[in-house]
Amino acid sequence: MADSLLAKLQVELDQRAADGLLRRRRLLDSPQAAHIEADGKSVLSFCSNDYLGLANHPKLIAAMQQGAAKAGVGSGASHLIAGHHCYHHELEQALAAFVRLPAALLFSTGYMANLGVISALLGRGDAIFADKLNHASLNDAAVLSRADLHRYPHNDVLALEKMLKASRAPGKLVVADAVFSMDGDLAPVPELLALCEQHDAWLLLDDAHGFGVLGENGRGILSHFKAASKRIIYMATLGKAAGVFGAFIAGEPVLIEYLLQQARTYIYTTATPPALSAAVLQALKIIAQQDHRRQHLQLLIKTLKNDLHLQHWQLGVSGTAIQPLLVGSNQAALSLSEYLLTQGILVPAIRPPTVPKGSSRLRISLSAAHSIEDIQRLIAVLHEAEKRIVA
Ligand SMILES: *Cc1c(COP(=O)(O)O)cnc(C)c1O
Repeated sequence: MADSLLAKLQVELDQRAADGLLRRRRLLDSPQAAHIEADGKSVLSFCSNDYLGLANHPKLIAAMQQGAAKAGVGSGASHLIAGHHCYHHELEQALAAFVRLPAALLFSTGYMANLGVISALLGRGDAIFADKLNHASLNDAAVLSRADLHRYPHNDVLALEKMLKASRAPGKLVVADAVFSMDGDLAPVPELLALCEQHDAWLLLDDAHGFGVLGENGRGILSHFKAASKRIIYMATLGKAAGVFGAFIAGEPVLIEYLLQQARTYIYTTATPPALSAAVLQALKIIAQQDHRRQHLQLLIKTLKNDLHLQHWQLGVSGTAIQPLLVGSNQAALSLSEYLLTQGILVPAIRPPTVPKGSSRLRISLSAAHSIEDIQRLIAVLHEAEKRIVA
C-alpha cells in the first residue's frame, strides 16, 4: 500500500524534472567564501548572502570557540525556561542599540521570526498587506495568522493605498522585504510609513539583506531612509551580512515584551547555542567599524553594472549586492548557469516558485570577499556565454 503513496510523489518529482524545476544540493567542502570547493571542484562563487565576507572571519571563529568554551555547545532549554544566556541578553541589547531602536528579541531564524511576529500580532478578521515579491516566510506567516492576506503589486504604493482605504479590518499590518531578496531593489519605506500612519497600520520591514550593508555603518534600512516610528517592527537576520546565524525583531519595548509572551516560535523552541551570540557580538563590532568592507562592495557593484554589456539578458534595477540577471525561461537560466560552471563560476539559476513564472534568472550575489578581478572574470565569462548560448 505504501508503494502507491510513494509512486504519487515520484510522478510529481518526474514532472518537476521535465519542467526544469528540480533542485539539487551542492556539496560544499570549504568555508563560505569567494572561492569554494563545491561538488569536489574549486569554483568562484556568486551564491552566498555573506555580503561582508564575515562567515569565515578569524575573529568570529575565535569568538564562537571562546563562547563554546565558556557556555557549552547547547543552550539546553527554551529562553523562557532556563536557556536565556548572558550572551543572548548582551546581543539583544547590542542589536537594539545598533539599529537605534529601544528593544530587541532574538529568534532562531528569520523564518521563525516572521512566523512568530505576524501570528502574534494578527488574527482572524485582521488584514495583512504584503508586497507580491515578499519572501516566502512572510506569506507563510500570513497564512498561519489566519488574517486576510492582500498582496499588492511590487512596490505599487497606489495599489496599496486603495487596498488600505477599502479595508475595515480592526488590525492592519503592511509588510515588505526592505531589500527584495531575488531582485535587490528597495521597498519605498517613507511612502509605506506614510500610508501606515494614515491608516493606523503596523509596518513590518524584513531587512534580511539590508542589515550590515545599508545605512550609516551598516545599521540597515531604517538608517538608510532615516525612518523612525513607533509603529515600525524591524526584522533582520544574522546569517547573511552578519555571517553567523539567527535573527531578531526590534521595536518599542511593549512590542518586544508582547512578543516574548506571545510569539510561539520564540516560546516553544530551544534557545540557540549561546556561542552563536558570542560570534554575532564580534560580527557587530566589525560591521560597525569596518566601512571599507561596504565601500569595497559598492565598488564591485559599480564595476559589474558599468562593465557588463549584454544584448539579450539584462541586470535588474538593483543597486545592492543582489544583482539579478534576467534570462526568462527555466531552461535558458539553467543552461547559462551550467555553462558558467564549466568555466569554474557558480551562480545559481533561480526559478519559479521562488520568482514569478517567465522571470527565471541568475541571482548574482556579490560579497566584500570578492576581488575586482573576480568580478572582471565573471563579466568576461558572461560575455562569452551570450555568444555561445544565444547564437
Ligand atoms: C533569508 C531570508 C529570511 C529567512 O531568514 P533565515 O534566518 O535564513 O531563516 C527571511 N526574509 C528574507 C527576506 C530573507 O532573505
